[in-house]
Amino acid sequence: FDMFILAFVERLFRPTYRKDDFVLGKKLGEGAFGVVYRVSLAKKPSSKKEGDLVLKKATEYGAVEIWMNERVRRACANSCADFLYGFLETSPKKGAEYWLLWRFEGEVTLSDLMLSKEFPYNVETMITGKVQDSPKGLERENRIIQTIMRQLLFALDGLHSTGIVHRDIKPQNIIFSEGSRTFKIIDLGAAADLRVGINYIPKEFLLDPRYAAPEQYIMSTQTPSAPSAPVATALSPVLWQMNLPDRFDIYSAGLIFLQMAFPALRTDSGLIQFNRQLKRCDYDLDAWRKSVEPRAGLELRRGFELLDLDGGIGWELLTSMVRYKARQRTSAKAALAHPYFDREGLLVLSFMQ
Ligand code: ADP
Ligand code: MG
Repeated sequence: FDMFILAFVERLFRPTYRKDDFVLGKKLGEGAFGVVYRVSLAKKPSSKKEGDLVLKKATEYGAVEIWMNERVRRACANSCADFLYGFLETSPKKGAEYWLLWRFEGEVTLSDLMLSKEFPYNVETMITGKVQDSPKGLERENRIIQTIMRQLLFALDGLHSTGIVHRDIKPQNIIFSEGSRTFKIIDLGAAADLRVGINYIPKEFLLDPRYAAPEQYIMSTQTPSAPSAPVATALSPVLWQMNLPDRFDIYSAGLIFLQMAFPALRTDSGLIQFNRQLKRCDYDLDAWRKSVEPRAGLELRRGFELLDLDGGIGWELLTSMVRYKARQRTSAKAALAHPYFDREGLLVLSFMQ
């Protein structure tokens, strides 16, 4: 009951917004389910010319995305971009649209950073806040990639502990927050909240095939259709144990780890080709390695070399994430305790961590 009062009071004093409050800036993204803009408040022009908020005008799935963001801001705020407010906006022209508002976290996603020739050194500069002058090489690159993976798994652990599966983990949905100098997850439009049964029925058509785990469906097909909310609350911890839906995100995070180690897999075509090869190897990464390593070029060999540092613990972690059977994949919490993370990462100069 206290929690309810707190949530109510918090909601009461949080600023609310209406359509006319915003000045639209640059379009940041456009998908099948919505358009995203950088915006500023009309009454309080931002010090930055481009505005310090992000607005998503979403279709019917916006309702789920608002629900997920409200849950996140109470339970694991640091995992995701800072959500401010969501509301339903109806107009004669456009009908019903959900408007969602976040703080503008920063200019670049992990995708932008990974596609640069400077990767991973560009990330090192952003995290530490200065250009480091130590000699470039595998050890240093591994340390940067390890820090990115730790931040990603930390954010995922927060979501999963809250009962939320993201289902669309990919570099485009990981934003670098300039304020906290850490990576945060965005885009909860395809997420499922298993504790209360929201978006319980898998919408497999929402999933990005490049990063999707082979099971596709989050819950096994034997799972009965969505129970009503109170029943789902009582049952879902059991279902969670049985089906381990969080391992879907772990597979996607494993593919991102792989892309960071192998530059050739960072392009769409490279990743699609890899997915085809892995499928042919029955999703066995060791078999894939055996098939490509003998005829590998310099760049591919360098990726294996990076993952083989410190007795191959990087490769060990990777293979514990990218596995055919969800049940055999590690969890975000267990991954964070993996010896790969024993070695010191980058020092994050922020007040947040
Ligand atoms: P969709 O993928 O459905 O178009 P996203 O929520 O992924 O929508 O947002 C689209 C793009 O907008 C992101 O890839 C990112 O570049 C940018 N973006 C989204 N949220 C933020 C935020 N809080 N801060 C900065 N940029 C953001
Ligand atoms: Mg997105």
